[in-house]
Amino acid sequence: SDFLSERVQRLQPSPTLAVTQKAAELRAAGQDIIGLGAGEPDFDTPDNIKEAAIQAIRDGATKYTAVDGTPELKQAVIDKFKRDNQLDYELNQILVSTGAKQSLFNLCQAVVNPGDEVIIPAPYWVSYPAMVEIAGGKPVFITADWDQDYKITPKQLEAAITDKTRLVMLNSPSNPTGLAYTRAEFQALAEVLEAHPKLLIATDDMYEHILWADEPFSTLLNVAPGLYDRTVVFNGVSKAYAMTGWRIGYAGGPAEVIGAMKKVQGQSTSNPAAVSQAAAREALDGDQSKVTEMVKAFKERHDRVHQLLSDMPGVRVKPSMGTFYSFPDFREAIEKLDGVDDDKALAEYLLKEAGVALVPGSAFGLPGHMRLSFATDMATLEDACGRIHRALKS
Ligand code: PLP
Repeated sequence: SDFLSERVQRLQPSPTLAVTQKAAELRAAGQDIIGLGAGEPDFDTPDNIKEAAIQAIRDGATKYTAVDGTPELKQAVIDKFKRDNQLDYELNQILVSTGAKQSLFNLCQAVVNPGDEVIIPAPYWVSYPAMVEIAGGKPVFITADWDQDYKITPKQLEAAITDKTRLVMLNSPSNPTGLAYTRAEFQALAEVLEAHPKLLIATDDMYEHILWADEPFSTLLNVAPGLYDRTVVFNGVSKAYAMTGWRIGYAGGPAEVIGAMKKVQGQSTSNPAAVSQAAAREALDGDQSKVTEMVKAFKERHDRVHQLLSDMPGVRVKPSMGTFYSFPDFREAIEKLDGVDDDKALAEYLLKEAGVALVPGSAFGLPGHMRLSFATDMATLEDACGRIHRALKS
């Protein structure tokens, strides 16, 4: 470790990738393992998108592009923000990256000074705290548990803000809880944010399209247009279009901040893959019917898994409003199981006894829970839930 930076030694490997890898290793060793840990749709990328990529290769999309994305894709992103979110952006307010993950990473590098505090509601997507730490910032968590539907309150937000707070990160619909803020809830949070004009806000809208709540999707800026000059909106094609491997995400925001994020990207990876950009353009501009089909399947699986989880002894779970995750509370089950003291031990127990891989809630900042991804077929989900149920009873 003499060779390694203090920064990287403090860094934790991604726990979701670790679970997926462990399940793969056991499977390779001949064991019958069902992996419900991964955060990616099981569907294949729609054909129109693949064809656009093949055509792009033939047409010579094999060179560097502009660092922040091709003008064609950036225009498609602008059109998307206008069409779906009623948000207006110019070309210099858009950055296309190698996944929304890179856009978010760039933001942290662009705006966080050492010692700055970044407010992250827990449970959170695993990468937020790590990105903040790599930038030298300090994650400040607001815990939102069962009794508040895993969503932070204005009171909690107000209490977490200090002189050092630089950035607030919001994610709705949420990975891992599958819950989304309503317009009224966003409005209440916006009132707090409006009273603190120095704060920057990041809204991660990755799961925008995978939603079946009563209210249509809304993002913070829809209820609080006054925050436009200090909010960066993140989105991407990975989840909605089953395009995780293509690695395209994007951000829209104030030109100054986007320009700084572009500068970071220009000194690290430069442009995202040219072929993937052509594919993403077709995803955003082309036929959207496959999205509807996939969301319908996710909803059906959710309803079944929700019922099966609710029937398990010592388990309770909120119905997800979207995404492809359930985030059941296993605290009572953990209490009852001999030799299982926390959610990490439960994950190991379920892997061993049931052959099912789930991600422990502590990875997302909320112990006692497990994240179950229902991005797999119904028969496998029913099999997995049956196994978990039996393992909890024994
Ligand atoms: N934000 C959230 C909440 C996510 O769950 C993910 C993917 O797991 C991302 C961002 C990043 O996705 P990508 O880098 O594939 O665009």
